[in-house]
Amino acid sequence: MPVNTFQQLGLKEEILKAIDEVGYKEPTPVQNDAIPMTLKGRDIHAGAQTGTGKTAAFVLPILQKLSSVDYKDGLPRALIITPTRELAMQVMENVLEYGRYLDLTAVVIFGGSSMKLQRNKLVRGPDIIIATPGRLLDHLEQENTELSNIQFFVLDEADRMLDMGFSGDIRKLDKYLPKQRQNLLFSATYTQAVQRLADGLLVQPVQIQGTRSNTAVDSVKQVVHHCAKARKMELVAHIINQGDLNQVLIFAKKKPSVNDLTDYLKGEGISSVALHGNKTQGARRRALEDFKKIKVRVLVATDIAARGLDIDTLPYVINYELPGVSEDYVHRIGRSGRAGNTGKAITIVCADEHKHLRDIERFLNRPIPVKEIGDFKRGDAISFSKNKNSAASANDRSFGDSDKRGGKERRVAGKPKSKTSSRQGDFFGEKSSTKRSSSKPKKSQKKHRRR
Ligand code: AMP
Repeated sequence: MPVNTFQQLGLKEEILKAIDEVGYKEPTPVQNDAIPMTLKGRDIHAGAQTGTGKTAAFVLPILQKLSSVDYKDGLPRALIITPTRELAMQVMENVLEYGRYLDLTAVVIFGGSSMKLQRNKLVRGPDIIIATPGRLLDHLEQENTELSNIQFFVLDEADRMLDMGFSGDIRKLDKYLPKQRQNLLFSATYTQAVQRLADGLLVQPVQIQGTRSNTAVDSVKQVVHHCAKARKMELVAHIINQGDLNQVLIFAKKKPSVNDLTDYLKGEGISSVALHGNKTQGARRRALEDFKKIKVRVLVATDIAARGLDIDTLPYVINYELPGVSEDYVHRIGRSGRAGNTGKAITIVCADEHKHLRDIERFLNRPIPVKEIGDFKRGDAISFSKNKNSAASANDRSFGDSDKRGGKERRVAGKPKSKTSSRQGDFFGEKSSTKRSSSKPKKSQKKHRRR
């Protein structure tokens, strides 16, 4: 499809003004393809990973369509499901940004926050619900909301949702939705499981092939440093200090390594925060905000916790440990080099990760360049016999020929906000009196029973 401007995509003035203020000059490829098709009423199956502008690709046309009709029923009309709370908050932030000049309301729903507060917002009948599946099902079970008027059903990061075991929850949600609706499915990868899900949900979808999951974002420069396991933390501190880096996202595989590395870096005088599933919602939110505002230099996170993290100009990602799944390598490094910015992904690999590195390189279909740094060497990596060490090194080379291979509604209309701000409010644009304001669910909501 020829590249359009946002104006040519048919978006209304209020939306154009908002995206202009956010600083978007032209649509990304997935936006260019998905926006007109969604406006035409088609179901969408898009292959688009984080960093491609996929959120605006579904949010903008939904805002356009919802705001173009005079709606008085007071029941939600768009449902956006995400695998994690961080992503849900991120989508909410985008909805608030793009919808700041529209008279629409939205609420974000996820576990770990008060059911009661969420219920109070749900019963007011927001136009848009952004939710993680489990918590939304809890609310549906308690009849705090009703999905019978949903016109847009979005599954964001559908592959990740399936990986996280949400397929049963999606099936349950489906039973609450009306048959007649528009479905938009976004997924970084095309697996058979995603295809089955798409087959069950979508009706003659337009297929949009964005960047494939094994296509590492070109704007990210990648490098591998080999190092002994025992010296990994030292190497991380060395990289940060040597490069004088001040906004670095570091990935570790497990919560204990996240905590250990955070403590180590703090001990080295490098301000750092940890982000993982054992942290409270408040702590996670604070960690993200401090990192976004560069109040701390380093955020150390597990893969799940980092989903949905969106910082416009994140310059550095360090893989302190390789991810369990090769695909996650692409997700991780895609946290930098977003939307036209350049980034650098540094991967630290010790002896017992060599095989996994090869798997990742196979997945990427290309080697990642290796560079020695300081006195940290691959030779350090194996502590037993020298012969074994060299055999392991030789076997490691599958690519190239040497180590040089590579509760409260609130109006947000008004002042433009900075791109990295992290508004956490739940509503934008207070609704007119057409919205129900009682704290009790509408009668019609009562009739809905779960299977
Ligand atoms: P997403 O893939 O939705 O997570 O978006 C990745 C980043 O791209 C976010 O920081 C968005 O604000 C930004 N973005 C989305 N669309 C555009 C665009 N058309 N031009 C520039 N940046 C964009």
